Amino acid sequence: MPRDEAPDDAVPDDSRAQFTEEEQRVLREAFAAGAPVRCPRCLATMTARAIGGGSFGLGYARRREWLMCPRCRRSAMFDVKRGTRN
Ligand SMILES: [Zn+2]
Repeated sequence: MPRDEAPDDAVPDDSRAQFTEEEQRVLREAFAAGAPVRCPRCLATMTARAIGGGSFGLGYARRREWLMCPRCRRSAMFDVKRGTRN
């Protein structure tokens, strides 16, 4: 039997299946474009969660996003550069 089920502990770790760098780049670009982000592996719509300090609206140049696939449980975390400048 394939061991493809990870425990649903909501914490990514290095032992869990990850996206390749190319897949992460596609995810990041889709997210930056404001489009619904689909998992490149199973095409499920991924859940986006902002993480970090949670201090939006303070003019931070960057924030961190965590995209997680609800189906295959793969996740990708990356910094998002905000397009708005003051
Ligand atoms: Zn998936």
